[in-house]
Amino acid sequence: MTNEPKFETLAIHAGLEPDPSTGAVVTPIYQTSTYAQDGVGVHKGYEYARTNNPTRSALEKAISVLEAGKFGFAFGSGMAAIDTVLKLLNPGDHVLAINDLYGGTFRLFDKVYQRYGFTFSYASALETSTFLKNVQNNTALIWLETPTNPLLSLCDIQEIASSVSSLATPPLICVDNTFATPYLQQPLNMGADIVVHSNTKYLGGHSDLVGGSAITNREDLAERFAFIQNAVGAIPGPLDCFLTLRGIRTLPIRMDRHAENAVQIAKYLQGRTEVGEVFYPFLSDHPQFELASRQMRNGGGMVSFVMKKGKEAAQRFVESTNYFTLAESLGGVESLIELPALMTHASTANSPLEINPSLVRLSAGLENVTDLIEDIEQALEK
Ligand code: PLP
Repeated sequence: MTNEPKFETLAIHAGLEPDPSTGAVVTPIYQTSTYAQDGVGVHKGYEYARTNNPTRSALEKAISVLEAGKFGFAFGSGMAAIDTVLKLLNPGDHVLAINDLYGGTFRLFDKVYQRYGFTFSYASALETSTFLKNVQNNTALIWLETPTNPLLSLCDIQEIASSVSSLATPPLICVDNTFATPYLQQPLNMGADIVVHSNTKYLGGHSDLVGGSAITNREDLAERFAFIQNAVGAIPGPLDCFLTLRGIRTLPIRMDRHAENAVQIAKYLQGRTEVGEVFYPFLSDHPQFELASRQMRNGGGMVSFVMKKGKEAAQRFVESTNYFTLAESLGGVESLIELPALMTHASTANSPLEINPSLVRLSAGLENVTDLIEDIEQALEK
């Protein structure tokens, strides 16, 4: 073959080798904790399942290929992947993070790592130069989400990466790519050092697993990841790896439909008098539409908006939808809806990252979009 395989082809084939022992086309669920050795230290590459497992290896290969990375690591949750990145640092190190991010990430930084002598700053990354003014001599990590959860704002990954590369000791750049997925953007190709995911969301895609991953091109970081993954043991089970792999096979086709539905919902919401600001990066009047079009293939499946009448109206609204299930999480085939201030981002209460209580976040699923819009309409009327 002369041409490089396209993303859709990679999503099907990455990490997919016929099983060496049986020829099974799909990597089996290797539900085992240990592996027989022919002699002491003589084995087929697997010793103990915390260290490695063939189902997990297939997933790690697939996710690294899709993120255009050399090394992939799977974890028991997105938070376990994020925790592993923090474990690359040393007490006394400073982390500069974007000021709109998943509430659980903020909680890990604020309530866990601060106790161990790490310091954190949060700043808007809408303007790269203003954001980077917060870099200190001891900044070891820049933490980015783009699009952010829940406000769907973006940062320019390439500009940030190239600006810090001239520093004497450039901090690591880690991008949480959960909302975009590698189908929409590949941060390693834009200069990031590490990408993390909550596999629970679009990669799994069916709301039936919890998992995470971290991907890098840097051998030095990969060695540390492998060491920490094995030493700490925050690994996914083989069934969850299998389900994530199955989800990945349909990622491109799902992301296209998620985005088609989301943009139509966003436009519909903009036309409703009950609704204030609507956040979706591929709306042509979104302030970062130009960056979105340059950095992402499409706008993804997440939409947030403000209910003008306030938090009680917002709560009544999210409790009145039928196809949109009131639930945390996102990225599954079914549509979900929630109030970030009281649910996914409750841990940001009374912090500078506190969320507007009238903000509603929805995850557009793969249902027929007319049904979804009708559902929103009847809930708004209530
Ligand atoms: N990153 C983002 C952007 C998320 O939305 C989430 C969860 O909602 C996580 C990380 C954490 O992932 P998990 O719930 O799989 O631990």
